[in-house]
Amino acid sequence: MGNFLKTTENPLDFVEIKIDGASHISIKEPRLCRERCENKPCTYYCPTRVFYWDGDTQDIQVIYARCVECGACPYGCPHGNIDWHFPAGGYGVLYRHG
Ligand code: SF4
Ligand code: SF4
Repeated sequence: MGNFLKTTENPLDFVEIKIDGASHISIKEPRLCRERCENKPCTYYCPTRVFYWDGDTQDIQVIYARCVECGACPYGCPHGNIDWHFPAGGYGVLYRHG
């Protein structure tokens, strides 16, 4: 959450998310993250820090409940290693109108 300190605002304070029981995001091949992705850009470009590197398990962890559906992760991963789709109908970000 360190990068949010620039403004002291957390983007998740401004959206309401209805959390699905099943993740809409997964890592296709965890070994690829460990062995071939030195800088792990997913841990930087996601605006709400859905991805983080767990040094204990040596895996990328995915906190899908934080996703604001910006759609960047399938393009931002240099190895095409993230499977992302919109949450099931009725779940995810609840947009306000009016
Ligand atoms: S950017 Fe892609 S390959 Fe690299 S750590 Fe993240 S998910 Fe794994
Ligand atoms: S779609 Fe956007 S907010 Fe959701 S996990 Fe991917 S980069 Fe993060």
